Amino acid sequence: MKLSVLKDLYPGERRVALTPANVAALCARGCDIRVEAGAGEQAGFADELYIESGADIVMTRSEALAGSEVLLCVNASRNEDLDGFCAGQLCIALMDPLSDSARFKALAERGLSLLALELVPRISRAQSMDVLSSIATIAGYKAVLLAAEAAPRIFPMMMTAAGTLNPARVFVMGAGVAGLQAAATARRLGAVVEAYDVRAAAREQIISVGARPIELDLPTAAAEGQGGYAAAQDADFLTRQREQMTAVLAQQDIVITTAAIPGSQAPVLISAGMVAAMKPGAVIVDLAAERGGNCELTRAGETRQVEGVTIMGPLNLAATVPMHASQMHGRNIENLLLHLLNADARLQLDFDDEIVADTLVSHQGEICAPRVRERLG
Ligand code: NAD
Repeated sequence: MKLSVLKDLYPGERRVALTPANVAALCARGCDIRVEAGAGEQAGFADELYIESGADIVMTRSEALAGSEVLLCVNASRNEDLDGFCAGQLCIALMDPLSDSARFKALAERGLSLLALELVPRISRAQSMDVLSSIATIAGYKAVLLAAEAAPRIFPMMMTAAGTLNPARVFVMGAGVAGLQAAATARRLGAVVEAYDVRAAAREQIISVGARPIELDLPTAAAEGQGGYAAAQDADFLTRQREQMTAVLAQQDIVITTAAIPGSQAPVLISAGMVAAMKPGAVIVDLAAERGGNCELTRAGETRQVEGVTIMGPLNLAATVPMHASQMHGRNIENLLLHLLNADARLQLDFDDEIVADTLVSHQGEICAPRVRERLG
């Protein structure tokens, strides 16, 4: 299989789709790999390292695009990211496949084969290919560091000659991959941590990272959807949740929100009224900012102060830790590519395989992935 690693065009993206270690593993399996000059530079992987791992460096994007069956970049969520891609080439990337079905219809008509990493199914054999878990892990960790930096207080308890400093109280809303990592990171920094999730299964996981689960007078058993994702909550549920959560929030120094429903707007967990009832100096880091935010006052990509509360809506936090984020992302892609190769190291798309069927958005002019087809109606 001939594949190319492209330099990402997506604004602010500093990750690279394969690291030199992934290149070495894929070359050993018989792949022929070209890397666009400078593709790994911002993640700390110089061109020389790729050459040592068996790749050829090409100086321009057009050289990288020409003659490759598979094109890799981290983020292809805009049409510009796919400039120069030709019919028949398979692009593997993040591409926000559930957002704009008309865009994918047009790309399919261009003959592009697109494999969306967001659609990797949540099944045991695909766990090692699950880039969303890798991204969420980094985001949960980094959210706590952002909060610690913005807060007017420190996290751990300190007993000093100048008196005792109480530990920060951190509350995590949504205890999935990102939320549990945020809870664990805040615990490591010495905070007292509580967390809440609509999924009943999250309770034990919250306890396992040293945090205290918050129980609300709301149903949890029905909250689990397909593949371990949360099912969307109705407006009445969210209203009751916000009412009960107001008092919990008023006690917190830091709130990290991570609640997401795949392919939908994020549920609003924090209203403006709840922010007004929070302590002055409190910090909210809203990891759902990209999908509209879990706090109704969040502005994507901005930090703002409202009623003395700092509200942060960071975007693409994985790109702020590009070395380790690329290490995780690259390993996920390596595992996926190894899965797609046949015994002769050729690309073989098996449409009976759930991993291929779920992730292949378009192929030979057609929209294939059921979740994207559903949206087209
Ligand atoms: P996610 O990013 O879709 O959502 C984050 C969390 O927000 C979830 O835990 C969800 O339950 C929660 N949430 C949604 N609405 C909420 C609300 N109104 N109030 C509070 N919380 C709300 O999910 P995720 O973090 O990617 O994963 C969730 C679960 O799936 C985890 O248990 C994870 O271990 C599991 N998972 C399994 C696989 C696999 O088997 N391959 C892969 C990834 C994740």
